[in-house]
Amino acid sequence: MDLLNTLVDKGLRRELPTRDEALAVLATSDDDLLDVVTAAGKVRRQWFGRRVKLNYLVNLKSGLCPEDCSYCSQRLGSKAGILKYTWLKPHEAAAAATAGVAGGAKRVCLVASGRGPTDRDVDRVSQTIEAIKDQNEGIEVCACLGLLSAGQADRLRAAGADAYNHNLNTSEATYGGITTTHTYADRVDTVQQAQAAGLSACSGLIAGMGESDADLVDVVFALRELDPDSVPVNFLIPFEGTPLAEEWNLTPQRALRILAMVRFVCPDVEVRLAGGREVHLRSMQPLALHLVNSIFLGDYLTSEGQAGQTDLDMIADAGFEVEGAGTVTLPQHRADVAAHAGGGCGSHAEGAEGAGCGSQSEGAGCGSHGESGCGPCGGGAQPAVPEPVREPVQSPVQEPVTAGAARTGLVTVRRRGAGTDLPPNA
Ligand code: SF4
Repeated sequence: MDLLNTLVDKGLRRELPTRDEALAVLATSDDDLLDVVTAAGKVRRQWFGRRVKLNYLVNLKSGLCPEDCSYCSQRLGSKAGILKYTWLKPHEAAAAATAGVAGGAKRVCLVASGRGPTDRDVDRVSQTIEAIKDQNEGIEVCACLGLLSAGQADRLRAAGADAYNHNLNTSEATYGGITTTHTYADRVDTVQQAQAAGLSACSGLIAGMGESDADLVDVVFALRELDPDSVPVNFLIPFEGTPLAEEWNLTPQRALRILAMVRFVCPDVEVRLAGGREVHLRSMQPLALHLVNSIFLGDYLTSEGQAGQTDLDMIADAGFEVEGAGTVTLPQHRADVAAHAGGGCGSHAEGAEGAGCGSQSEGAGCGSHGESGCGPCGGGAQPAVPEPVREPVQSPVQEPVTAGAARTGLVTVRRRGAGTDLPPNA
């Protein structure tokens, strides 16, 4: 297919595809799907080899957000039965992070719900970063605390944060239909504040919220222009009790096409498969490893992922390898730029086919707290006291597979790990 040959050539040269080419990837048929994956896989291997970076989410503060992001289980008025708790203490967050590192994660993503941190919140997170770094040499820490105020990015950087996540989530044109309590421009501003402070920027999107192909291409092109080091791609987890609970729009094939499009537009950037991969890709998850070079290990902020060991087995079975702590995630040309900016993360080059390493956040990084990522938090909501949760973990209900049909049984609220007395999934 001429389209795919062109996109591979451009990806290997780090050349931006046209909007029409990006749209054409989303419009390919199921018959062409494996050709699309093969083509985007060539670009992925050129810059990242067969390495898969693992990231681990720690939800520092859950629920009770004053913002109204429609996709979010932690939003104002959410009826989702998620865990609600106020700030974890530094040693509690460090214990959760250490479990993820032991499972193979090289980046820990510290997320807190809310519009944005107060200066006192930044102090708390700074202490948490210090505790995590004391216990885990060489670990990358990404903060995802929502909209930043002047000087807060510098303080986080000084405290040892390597990266900051804040997602654009959707196109500028549709943003107002998703959230009314802050703007797309607010989000862009926070990403730019993080970059100016020397933090490695992580910013991505959420697909499956009813957007058009043009919206998806718009947000991915906007991200390319913003030039984050990592781009988490979330697929909407339609939580019961949120306005988007009925939005089951994605098929595994659609999700793969979206990931391929992101890879072609952002060829040498860490593309992270974030929240919703189990729910929407299901048994097709291993194919996505040919497109992305980064995933989250274990659970998400408020929902459960598949078992951490299942993630590791999937990576090995598909012929990929977990990226080691001593490897730079980003290709050398990007890692050099990050180093000049004073940013700490990323990674280095070491062996591997012309690729370096680097990395970033949660598929969610922050800014969005869709589930994988983070979003803002803070806000004046009164925190609730954490309640130990000892309910047995429920297995997803098996349902017939029908594209587009609501499959609520696939969404399992997180009831283990941070904020509970139960061991985390790592
Ligand atoms: S995404 Fe972040 S800011 Fe928006 S409702 Fe969720 S926690 Fe609040």
